[in-house]
Amino acid sequence: MKVRIHRGTRQIGGTCIEVAAESTPGRIVLDLGLPLDADTDDIASLMPDVPGLRDASDDLLGVLISHPHQDHVGLVHDIHPDIPIGIGAAGQRILDRAADWLDRPKLDDRVLIHWQSGKPVTLGPFTITPLLVDHSAYDAYALLIQADGQRLFYSGDFRGHGRKAKLFEKLLANPPRDIDVLMMEGTVIGREGEGTPFPDESALERDFVEAFNSTEGLRLVWTSTQNIDRIVTLYRAAKRSGKRLVLDAFTAEMLAATENPNLPQAHWPHIGVYVPEWMRRRIVRDKTFTRLDPFKPNRVFLEHLDPARDILLFRPGMLKEVAAKAPLAGAQLIYSNWRGYLEDDSTKPVRDWLMQGAIPLRRIHTSGHASVSDLQRFATALAAKKLVPIHSFHGDRFDELFANVDRRDDGEWWSAGNQGGASWKS
Ligand SMILES: [Zn+2]
Repeated sequence: MKVRIHRGTRQIGGTCIEVAAESTPGRIVLDLGLPLDADTDDIASLMPDVPGLRDASDDLLGVLISHPHQDHVGLVHDIHPDIPIGIGAAGQRILDRAADWLDRPKLDDRVLIHWQSGKPVTLGPFTITPLLVDHSAYDAYALLIQADGQRLFYSGDFRGHGRKAKLFEKLLANPPRDIDVLMMEGTVIGREGEGTPFPDESALERDFVEAFNSTEGLRLVWTSTQNIDRIVTLYRAAKRSGKRLVLDAFTAEMLAATENPNLPQAHWPHIGVYVPEWMRRRIVRDKTFTRLDPFKPNRVFLEHLDPARDILLFRPGMLKEVAAKAPLAGAQLIYSNWRGYLEDDSTKPVRDWLMQGAIPLRRIHTSGHASVSDLQRFATALAAKKLVPIHSFHGDRFDELFANVDRRDDGEWWSAGNQGGASWKS
């Protein structure tokens, strides 16, 4: 196999890897993400230079998505509709449910290959085995690619300290053998606190219980609607502290889209659902009033929130409504995302609002990505002949942390075989 990383050797986000078989003509693409700082008005300029993405040339056999985060899947709607797309079924439902509300194109009219963990799929000369992993995104997979008698393992994004940590330990106990190339993410390398062990979701649950019980006013928790593990943690903490977790209806829709009966749902006890203005307007516009039905049993309005017992899931998009309607005397905001976003211009309006209202901000969070020590355990277990850094701003530091590192450049073709330094400039 030959491999060309289009984006990812020197950045987090916008991941795209092209793999070509040499024995029989055929190519596949692993992930097709939006760069984190992308200007989405100009999609054409963001599309990686992979022949056939726009016109579906014969030897491009599929675009294979590891997980439904935008920096891995964000460009997939803009490829030719005849190209098969590999993705987890629940991941697809989450993306489609969101697209439905946001008037964006859906995947369900595409040619889809749905991943089943451990079950190989054949595409021309390639055999692809998806393996479910622990990550902050729901339905995330690592992908084992076999062709030309070689084995390439793409880690996707993963961690070993989330609610599916058992999957990580299972993989370490019985790792795939004879891996020629491991392309491994290194998101946390170079981030503050990289050397310390990361708390798990159970530790967070205890911190949230303590925080919920020690706040008299409304508890706002700012987290990502995609971080299903965290929402489960918040629900469990709400229940343990005898409180109610108020979800916005969009988050409730994402939970419903998983079709996982073990995840908190809109009608459950200890749950409230508020329907944001933008969703209400959409329902009126489309006259789709039955869409409100799932929210009816636990529906609440922001102006009726009970500061003594409510926890409100918060995102910057809700700022105007929350500021205007929610009872905020004595409120506290708990920030449960990567701290870097707090330094971003996009979060400034929220930070200004917190300052003006003297709403204290506290941080309770753990990373969606593996700690350095878990990355090391993972790399050691897989013992690949070559380890190629990806999804990291610090590929230059892999050498000091891992064995057999072979750092590559974006846009460069290289061999997955043993010809160590061989590369072709395209
Ligand atoms: Zn991710």
